Amino acid sequence: METKILRMDIEHISTEDLAQAGAVIRDGGLVAFPTETVYGLGGDALNPESSRKIYAAKGRPSDNPLIVHIADMEQLGYIVEEIPEGVEKLALEFWPGPLTMIMKKSSVVPLQTTGGLDTVAVRMPSHPVAREFIRAAGGYVAAPSANISGKPSPTTAKYVIQDMDGRIDMIIDADGVEIGLESTIVDMTGEVPMILRPGFITLEMLSKVIGPVEMDVALLNIDSTAKPKAPGMKYRHYAPKGELVIVEGEPEQVVSYINQACKEHVAQGKRTGIIGTQESISQYKADCVKCAGSRADADAIARQLYTFLREFDDEGVEFIYSEAFDVGEKGQAIMNRLLKAAGHKIIFLN
Ligand code: AMP
Ligand code: MG
Repeated sequence: METKILRMDIEHISTEDLAQAGAVIRDGGLVAFPTETVYGLGGDALNPESSRKIYAAKGRPSDNPLIVHIADMEQLGYIVEEIPEGVEKLALEFWPGPLTMIMKKSSVVPLQTTGGLDTVAVRMPSHPVAREFIRAAGGYVAAPSANISGKPSPTTAKYVIQDMDGRIDMIIDADGVEIGLESTIVDMTGEVPMILRPGFITLEMLSKVIGPVEMDVALLNIDSTAKPKAPGMKYRHYAPKGELVIVEGEPEQVVSYINQACKEHVAQGKRTGIIGTQESISQYKADCVKCAGSRADADAIARQLYTFLREFDDEGVEFIYSEAFDVGEKGQAIMNRLLKAAGHKIIFLN
């Protein structure tokens, strides 16, 4: 299949291009598109055949449900059984934005889209191209991240093309993918709302609006054997080709541990990579050293993390070491992704 690549300017979105992209979805095809979190791989959420194609293009297990993207609040009632009060409150505060809410699905949403579940995950993205595209596509776009299953989510069109060229009908290339980590997922079907995937909307931000919110216990403990409630969270994810290890401890200890480890790999003819921060970066020695910005700047770290992992792949790095980024509330979302990318390999130096 030939994949058409459409470059869009977020300041001047071409209505003709949008109509063309929308028509692909309405005809049952797939279009990758930018959102403010990561690129999505979109298909018609109400068409079971489109969902089947999404799983096939990604190589994704079909028990891992897709998030349905909408552009307007009026669209929500059609795809859910009811809109709980908490959802209305959270939508007023955080939509459009990086928050996904799970509700009981209505009969129009096929089980192929929800991985066989009777619930549906819904998000309203804020990216201007995403919103206009969803409207042009008929209002309901099912979209997981636009990567081959298991790889880091793409935050630039370059990496969408790398994974999806020849597998889908169209890729929309635009700027404005600023957050860099996937949305927070909160399950609104229980008595107390529960976070199934941490993200930039934190537990504290949610509870300010709706009172008590819980965190899926399987996410809290790094070596937890509890099964996560979001089916997708149990799979290996975001992984670079090289072996990634996280090193946690006092800054000087971390620098000397990582440098020593890299030295040993280099002696064996291996290529090495490091993710550090402004505070430590000048002290590192490896083939590829990436600076995530200041240690206190969780936003900058999140924005660049997946790009770094992809760049290590591009540069043939075989062993990667990263500092731990337990910074503030958002640090939880970053560490959740980094630990998965590392297959939970973390070294505590103290
Ligand atoms: P992705 O779109 O690739 O970022 O992945 C979507 C995530 O949302 C996966 O971890 C899914 O397991 C999760 N998810 C989607 N729908 C549901 C649902 N109805 N119940 C629980 N988790 C869901
Ligand atoms: Mg994904």
